[in-house]
Amino acid sequence: MMDYQGSLHKINKQISVDDLNGKVANYIPELANVPEDKFGMYLTNIEGEGSGFGDCNERFSIQSISKVPSLTLALLTEGERVWERVGVEPSGDPFNSLVQLEYENGVPRNPFINAGAIVICDILLNTLKDPKKEYREFICKLSGNSSITYDEKVASSEKLTGHHNRAMINFMKGYGNINNDVEEVLDFYFHTCSIAMSCKELSEMFLLYANHGKLLSTGEEILSAKRTKRLNALMQTCGFYDEAGEFSFRVGLPGKSGVGGGIVAIYPNMYSTAVWSPKLNEKGNSTAGIAALEMLTDITGCSIF
Ligand code: GLN
Repeated sequence: MMDYQGSLHKINKQISVDDLNGKVANYIPELANVPEDKFGMYLTNIEGEGSGFGDCNERFSIQSISKVPSLTLALLTEGERVWERVGVEPSGDPFNSLVQLEYENGVPRNPFINAGAIVICDILLNTLKDPKKEYREFICKLSGNSSITYDEKVASSEKLTGHHNRAMINFMKGYGNINNDVEEVLDFYFHTCSIAMSCKELSEMFLLYANHGKLLSTGEEILSAKRTKRLNALMQTCGFYDEAGEFSFRVGLPGKSGVGGGIVAIYPNMYSTAVWSPKLNEKGNSTAGIAALEMLTDITGCSIF
């Protein structure tokens, strides 16, 4: 049995957020209010036992980490047809890049860049009766925690400043890849990004992806083993935008980041872990988060590679 608690203890002792570079995201004004010295990490093993340190129980904005449950819910409600509207290739471009969309006729490279997640939200607006309510309930179900909800302040803040996303969705609408009203889709997308969760809650929610698509608590199969394999493959190749290669190189696990400073990573059959530190590098990924995960796979001597 791995001593995860011991590994986390070493990470907590060795990583000092003050010594690492990075800036808190400020293009969503509400996120700029989060203190930059926050740092927490939590790991839940495949038996459901957890350990953590620091601010691991404090909720933060999960932002693009939500792109994973969004895709999961779209696969459950729309099935494989989602792949007619979004690709599965790494983008090699920033999360909010517009250029690729023009070359590729409004079909986003993958569901984990903004344009791709916006198409997924457009799909969910058609497949769900009450999208915001059902999306929240889905997150609560996956994480086994009924108190998780949207941070309305973050959602409204992004609505006011989300000009890049507004440009992308209008562009895709021009190519016929958005069915609903653009503001309705954006409102839903900004809400999915505004979900607030702690590292502990995120690691518990993502255990599903380490457990062949089954909830640990009830054994219920949410995703088939095949779909889980595909989702994990997408996290590996697309979870960090134009830093996906570097993350694989340093950490060696499938994962997903968000501009709130959170990163989740999973090790199939072993564990799910989440780390939070709001200072981001120029690619929009948490600097301390990547350092902590790199230390974890180094100390334990285990990665999927
Ligand atoms: N809500 C953010 C945006 O659309 C999410 C980006 C991210 O976390 N990388 O810009």
